[in-house]
Parts: sequence; C-alpha cells; structure tokens
Amino acid sequence: MDFQLDEDIVSLKHNIRDFIKNEVDPFAMQIEDEDHIPNEIIEKSKEMGLFSLSIPEEYGGLGIGMVGKCALYEEIGKTHNGYTTLIGAHTGIGSVGIVEMGNEEQKRKYLPAMARGDLIGAFALTEPQAGSHATNLKTTAVKKGNKYIINGTKHYITNATVADVFTVMAVTDASKGAKGITSFIIERGMPGFKIGAVERKMGLRGSHSAELVFEDCEVPEENVLGEVGQGYVNALKILANGRAGLAARNLGSSQKLLDMCMVHVQEREQFNVPIIEHQAVAHMLADIALEIEVLRSFTYRVAWMVDRGEKVIKEAAMLKLFGSEVYNRVADKAVQIHGGLGYIKDFPVERYYRDARITRIYEGTSEIQKNIISSQLRKEYSK
Ligand SMILES: Cc1cc2nc3c(=O)[nH]c(=O)nc-3n(C[C@H](O)[C@H](O)[C@H](O)COP(=O)(O)OP(=O)(O)OC[C@H]3O[C@@H](n4cnc5c(N)ncnc54)[C@H](O)[C@@H]3O)c2cc1C
Repeated sequence: MDFQLDEDIVSLKHNIRDFIKNEVDPFAMQIEDEDHIPNEIIEKSKEMGLFSLSIPEEYGGLGIGMVGKCALYEEIGKTHNGYTTLIGAHTGIGSVGIVEMGNEEQKRKYLPAMARGDLIGAFALTEPQAGSHATNLKTTAVKKGNKYIINGTKHYITNATVADVFTVMAVTDASKGAKGITSFIIERGMPGFKIGAVERKMGLRGSHSAELVFEDCEVPEENVLGEVGQGYVNALKILANGRAGLAARNLGSSQKLLDMCMVHVQEREQFNVPIIEHQAVAHMLADIALEIEVLRSFTYRVAWMVDRGEKVIKEAAMLKLFGSEVYNRVADKAVQIHGGLGYIKDFPVERYYRDARITRIYEGTSEIQKNIISSQLRKEYSK
C-alpha cells in the first residue's frame, strides 16, 4: 500500500489549508447566524478548483483519484460543516453518478460546468416513506414517446436550493422491485419540477436540505443515467464513493477539534496548573488522537482500494460507520475538555458537536452500515 501523495496534491493541500483558514473560517460565525454561505466564498472556492475534485481532467476537473480527493477533503472538513457539506455533496454524491455512469454526451454536457462550479450537483434518493428502506420508492418515471414523465416527492435533499443538476432515482417498473429503479439527470427548470419545503435543522447551517416535487415533470429520454433498471445499483455505487469522501471530511473535522483542544488544555488553568496536567484530561486527548490516527489510516486504505478499482462495498460501509462515530466521540470529548466554553455558541466547539450528529444519519445510518457489513460478511463466509 502506498498513500504517498504527488507533489501537486501536497501543494494543493497546503493552498486549500491556507484558503480554509484565511478565507472561510473567518466567516464561520456569519454562516451560522445567517444560515447562508457568502457568495464571495463560493466564488473563491470556484477559483481554487474546489468544485472539480471528482471530475476527470478531460472534462475540466482535477483528475486526482480518491487518495488525492481524501487528502483535500481532510482540509475542507476542518471548517464550517455547512460549507463542507455543500462542497462534499456536489463533489461526492452530486457529481460522481455522471462521472461514473454518464455517457460521453452527458459528461460533455454537464461535467465541465460542474467542474467550474457553474452548475451545482445534488443526489436525490430519499423519499418520505423510503429512508433506510431505499428501494421503497414511490416516485415514478413513465415512458411517453421520447420522454419520461416523473411524478413524486423527494425529501431532505442536500444542495436542493442551490443545485442545477440532480441525480434522481425513480421507479420505471414497479413489478421488478430494486431492478425497476432507474436514475435520471434532472435539471432545475425542467417543466413540472420545483423545489418544495426547506427543512429547519439542528445544524449544518448554510447547507440547505429541501423537498423536490415532480408533477408530470418531463425529462428527455437522453437524460437516463446509466441503464434503465440499474438505478439502485448506481445509487449504491455513488453512495459507496460518497461514504469514503464523507469519512475524510469527518477526519478533517475531528483533527480540527483536536487542534482546538490542544490549544485550550495548555492555556486553561485549574487548580493552578494547565488542565493538560490533569490525567483525566490528558487521557481524553490520547483517546482522541488515537481514534483520529486509526481513522486516517483506514480512510487512505479504502481510498487506495477505490483507486485500484477494487470493490469496496463492505469497506466503504465500515469507513462511513467508523468515521461518523469517531467524529461524534471526538466532538463529545472536545466539549467536555472545553468545559462550559464547549457549550457556548461564541466558541466553535458546540457547532461541531451539533454538526457531527448528522454524519451518523445521512448517506445511510450507522445501523444500515452495520447491515451492509454483516450481509457482505455473510456472502464472504458462504463461499
Ligand atoms: C440533513 C440531511 C441531509 C440529507 N441529504 C440527503 C441527500 O442529499 N440525498 C438523499 O437522497 N437523502 C438525503 N438525506 C436523507 C438521509 O440519507 C436519510 O435521512 C437516512 O438515510 C435515514 O432515513 P430516514 O431519515 O427515513 O430514517 P429511517 O429510515 O426512518 O430510520 C429511523 C431509524 O431506524 C433505523 N432503521 C431503519 N431500518 C433499519 C434496519 N433495516 N435495520 C436497522 N435499523 C434500521 C435507522 O437506522 C434509524 O435509526 C439527508 C438527510 C438529512 C437529515
């Protein structure tokens, strides 16, 4: 295994680290208060190439592979998680479908503009009755001439309010169960497609999750993504890729919390010594550092497997599960280490604590990851 990063990636990683620290972090409180990511940050992120992380070079992207992408995600994960989620959803589940399953015409049509950040991507699988039971879709796509007519409602869709290009799963043949689901590329503005209610959430301010409403929405046949009937398989592949990226962003957030803890424990004195001198505090730091190192190794191992074209269904589920749980445990300890300050909104630790919580739910809950892991184990051991 070789996780050595190319010099280009190392240099880009440093540039992104500086950009996040100097140009995004200072706006974190504003994003939190206004529930909006300032346009100047979005524009500068475009200039930095941050919208192009998943896109091959021939379509205007960085063409960096999964190890490189995780190295950059680690930096992006360090800042406000609303911003992290916007970039993560666009470069992950929002664009990977077109990169992996799109035909040449679709790639040429969408990817260059997505790489520039001129078109933002989103991924829409979840419906009110189809959360963990993701094959229980009610959104239908009925073929009529050279179009599909889509009816139904998706909910909780990240980037819905800002996205232009949606990878949407709909039922084309209800008699075939999971094999009757097809994925489509649906554009904002297509007739019969509108954005519905925007959710009020516990955290992730600045990242908006909303309903997608399809009422006799007309989608040209050429917007079928991949093969008819392969939509659920496509969704699993997109999610596996997305899950590895999410773990890398969770790694970055966890590292940021450790960095903040290390400053605090040396500055804050109680009983006339810096609190790092208290063994209970020092042990929490040791636990955090250990979990981060294990997560880092596992993240790059799975990313390396992805770049080698290996099947990572089990490993991506393990990584998603572990990365989310580590981030939550680290955030909990970081609040504890900061004492009352960890609970105060003027200081960022409480925000990471709230934002960490969603990572155990979206892109498949922790319980569903365990189901995937155990079903893969069953297959391996029945061979
Ligand atoms: C902020 C946010 C952003 C999101 N972004 C997107 C997006 O961009 N695109 C998208 O398609 N979806 C998105 N989602 C949806 C997300 O993926 C789902 O919320 C998630 O998969 C869980 O589905 P659910 O909410 O219906 O919970 P449920 O499926 O109702 O689950 C409730 C509980 O039951 C457990 N459970 C259910 N079934 C089982 C089982 N078989 N075994 C064990 N436990 C089980 C779950 O683990 C959970 O603890 C987002 C959600 C949120 C909140």
